Amino acid sequence: MLTAEIIAIGSELLTPFHADTNSLWLTEKLNSVGIEVKLKTIVGDDDARLEETLRDALRRSRVVITTGGLGPTEDDITRKIAARALGRRLLLNEKVLEDIRAKFMRWGRKMPEINTRQAMVIEGAEVLDNPNGTAPGMYLEHEGRAVVLLPGPPREMRPMYENFINARLAAKAGDLRVVRRVLRVVGLGESAVDERIAPVYTQYQNPQTTILFNRSEIEIHLTAQGKTEQEAELLLDGLAGQIEERLGESVFAFRGEMMEEVVGLRLAVNGFTLAVAESCTGGLIAERLTEVPGSSNYFKEGVVTYSNEAKVRLLGVPADLIGEYGAVSAPVAEAMAEGVRERAETDFGLAVTGIAGPDGGTEDKPVGLVYIALSDDAHTEHRKLLLPGDRQLIRWRASQAALDLLRRRLI
Ligand code: AMP
Ligand code: MG
Repeated sequence: MLTAEIIAIGSELLTPFHADTNSLWLTEKLNSVGIEVKLKTIVGDDDARLEETLRDALRRSRVVITTGGLGPTEDDITRKIAARALGRRLLLNEKVLEDIRAKFMRWGRKMPEINTRQAMVIEGAEVLDNPNGTAPGMYLEHEGRAVVLLPGPPREMRPMYENFINARLAAKAGDLRVVRRVLRVVGLGESAVDERIAPVYTQYQNPQTTILFNRSEIEIHLTAQGKTEQEAELLLDGLAGQIEERLGESVFAFRGEMMEEVVGLRLAVNGFTLAVAESCTGGLIAERLTEVPGSSNYFKEGVVTYSNEAKVRLLGVPADLIGEYGAVSAPVAEAMAEGVRERAETDFGLAVTGIAGPDGGTEDKPVGLVYIALSDDAHTEHRKLLLPGDRQLIRWRASQAALDLLRRRLI
């Protein structure tokens, strides 16, 4: 497989104020034509560091793409340093200079002298036109390497890549397509997931499998290569099927969907409706559900009943139930789910009550103790959870577990 590396150039990219998004965008593009990005580097506007980085890149990678540093000012050093690293001369290109002059004319301005710099082209490089700016890009082949210099601003870099580079690199990569799929797993830890599926996925080099932990769920990333997209998809289907066999209902998404989308789809196809009563999640479940377009078809209402009084007044939870068991208890969670379902006249009522911390925990009821409950007209059930993490994580995990309780009921 053809491998590439990306060098993002610009001192601002090393600060917290400017993120390097170009390399992420390029990686996605390169992957989709079957080129793997093995490394990216961010280099400040520094002659020596950039030269070292370029020399290393040219030694180890068959495709080297830089972005940034093609502007007209003193700190835009990419042209000069790339020429040095390649051992080639930098020559004034009259045609490029004319083009830049013409652009300024069209904008009704005279070209500042410093823009002459942008007409300096590395010997033997092809000039890439920049319809959205003055800095042209460059493409050259050097000792079996493809070297691409692109401007920094994304609106200049992206069309230049699409217009001049993508097809060329795709041809170099040959008939190789790379397809990814993200499976999401709930209710199992990373090691439990790995224990069950390692015997399967370790048998394959293609697809490649990565397992990672993400807040309240495990993600399984599958990457397959094939001569066609279809061939790669088939490989993914095969492995995803085997993973599902081993993890069962714990896999809630096969195409990277979020829990709220999966639950929403299940409600929608069955024509069911839902209302939610939340205490410690403070509306997070409602927020997640309503982020999904079309959720008004199944989500009817959400109530945040934070105080005991609100649980009584808005949900009809008996005050003596709270008195006897406390607000964070199984009976109260169930009464909340029933109360919201009856009042909203929905098929399902979902409720959460718990202690998100950092304060408010006791020996009996520690921080992270959460009860979730689900009610339909036949019965009401609850789960007791002891969730690890800080306040934010406990709230997120509680919302995830509640949505998952409903998902499993809908299977
Ligand atoms: P330059 O080509 O170095 O003059 O870049 C000009 C501007 O492009 C910078 O100030 C950034 O706003 C933007 N830019 C440069 N590099 C990147 C990058 N890797 N990702 C996103 N934006 C960038
Ligand atoms: Mg710059």
